[in-house]
Amino acid sequence: MSMHPKGPIQKSTQVAVDLRKAETLKCEHCGNYLFIKSTVLKRLSALVSPTGEEGIIPIEIYSCGNCGQVPKDMLKGTGLGEDNIDVEKS
Ligand SMILES: [Zn+2]
Repeated sequence: MSMHPKGPIQKSTQVAVDLRKAETLKCEHCGNYLFIKSTVLKRLSALVSPTGEEGIIPIEIYSCGNCGQVPKDMLKGTGLGEDNIDVEKS
């Protein structure tokens, strides 16, 4: 596929990144680097919902395709990973 940029205006669509210089995220548990997209569903109770109605909020995260663990960084702000999920070595 040859996508020719029409001019200097289209800069924003093309980001020249040398991926060799980018860090590959690896599973902190098993070292695997292939991740599966998953969705965490948060149920918002009517009490805390801004609309006053119960709702489900999907949050997209990635889990390790090998061991299924989710990098802790991705769980930040979801209420998971910090206290709720036991990711400590058992
Ligand atoms: Zn893993």
